[in-house]
Amino acid sequence: MATVRIEGVQDEVPVEKILCLGRNYRAHAEEMGSDIPVTPVVFLKPPTALIDEDDQICLPRFSNDIHHEIEMVVLIGITGKDIPRAEAMDYVSGYGVGLDLTARDVQSAAKKNGLPWAVAKGFDGSAPVSRFIRPAHVPDPHALDLTLKVNGIVRQHANTSLMIFRIDEVISYLSTIFTLSAGDLIFTGTPEGVGRLVVGDRLDLALGDIVTACFEVGAT
Ligand code: MG
Repeated sequence: MATVRIEGVQDEVPVEKILCLGRNYRAHAEEMGSDIPVTPVVFLKPPTALIDEDDQICLPRFSNDIHHEIEMVVLIGITGKDIPRAEAMDYVSGYGVGLDLTARDVQSAAKKNGLPWAVAKGFDGSAPVSRFIRPAHVPDPHALDLTLKVNGIVRQHANTSLMIFRIDEVISYLSTIFTLSAGDLIFTGTPEGVGRLVVGDRLDLALGDIVTACFEVGAT
């Protein structure tokens, strides 16, 4: 069963589903040549996409162009449906940092042909995540630097204040479509600077001074 860890909590949290936002940072939408969305762009990854820091990233054989996308990840702690925006932050039980690994070659072909992104975004191991930090220890989740270094060099660096759709709006919107369950994860979108990974890369992720994580790309 896929699980995540919350700092200071003994039991691991089972993950039911992984909801993800596309194009939630203007500069990333622009680098992809995409329009700025007026409603959130939503896709899902299955729980089998999850890996933690004990695991290596494994590049799938069906793609020659796996991209890193660093994202703030929100852990839902309470089940809810049609959650009002004013109450939405009460449903958060943790913040973490993760990677929305993307088979860009497969995604580009899918976009061109009007096909879904399940293969490009949902493959095994496509959702590496850190441990999660309780909201009480995160003063303002909309004011955190997101930084990804690959082999010691900064590849992505931005601030969560730049998100087009904020966390409360995202939770409220998603809950009109999907019942949000305790243990659901929401990947909140990547800033600009996405790029290709190769075997041997070492990735250092940071969400402000809240949490860090490190992943290595292993041999396939
Ligand atoms: Mg993404």
